[in-house]
Amino acid sequence: MNATERRDHIRAMLADLKLPGALEAVDAILADVDSGSLHASQAIEHLLTAQITLRNNHRLRTAMRSSRLPTIKTLQQFDFAFQPSIRREQIESLHELAFIKRKENVIFLGPPGVGKTHLAISLAIAAAESGRRVYYGTLVGLIESLEAARAAGQLARRLRVLSHPALLIVDEIGYLPVSRDGAVLLFQLINHRYEHASTVLTSNKGFEEWGTILGDEVMAAALIDRLMHHCHVVNIRGNSYRMREHADLRLALRPRPDPGTSETTLRRRKKEIPAH
Ligand code: ADP
Ligand code: MG
Repeated sequence: MNATERRDHIRAMLADLKLPGALEAVDAILADVDSGSLHASQAIEHLLTAQITLRNNHRLRTAMRSSRLPTIKTLQQFDFAFQPSIRREQIESLHELAFIKRKENVIFLGPPGVGKTHLAISLAIAAAESGRRVYYGTLVGLIESLEAARAAGQLARRLRVLSHPALLIVDEIGYLPVSRDGAVLLFQLINHRYEHASTVLTSNKGFEEWGTILGDEVMAAALIDRLMHHCHVVNIRGNSYRMREHADLRLALRPRPDPGTSETTLRRRKKEIPAH
């Protein structure tokens, strides 16, 4: 078999194996081998990488259609230098997704704009690329969907559907108040997923305030108990990335811990910072 026939044979085999990413890349890779700029092992690596990249993009596109992720954010886009309170190794190791295999939860806590939603989404993107099903909702959005399902007599079914994804994001706990009834639905959702699939939650409020957010201290305690049983808590203390070019404004908006600062002032200040 001469060189041209061998290439045709390789292309035919890649097509037969249904490896379109590798098929598209193979000519350029072989040309690099011929010109001496790639070794054999690098060539194999490039060929497999081309196929894996195509497969991951395909998985991501499929997942994006059903996941309701509001946007794509990746770990590569995250600037760790801006947020020194975050342990980079912890975040990188979470992105290796062993927590999903172990059905553990992740909770991102911190003030607005510090990257909670970004990191929750980048975990979901990594999970989607690995072929897992993911689903995104804000706390309020998820509760609304559960309320609508219950009104239609479909609550059990909706809870089952929401316990399927290997990773569920419950974003924005604490920005908007939840009725006690809504909190019961959240509790049922977390109960369904408990030790069965991973949930990633974000909140701008510490756990001690969840009783107020959910309108029931006892239920909040039971919820936190389940969530925390197998859980990674990432506490982010830092400045808002959205406000990084407005240091002066940030100072004016920062809630001061002095006792003279009333709750209403704090609330008003927080409102001035957009939620997205
Ligand atoms: P939070 O959910 O904590 O309020 P987000 O994750 O929505 O904040 O972040 C606000 C915006 O800033 C988003 O566009 C996000 O991608 C970006 N962002 C936040 N932190 C970082 C960071 N450390 N590096 C790069 N982008 C960041
Ligand atoms: Mg957010």
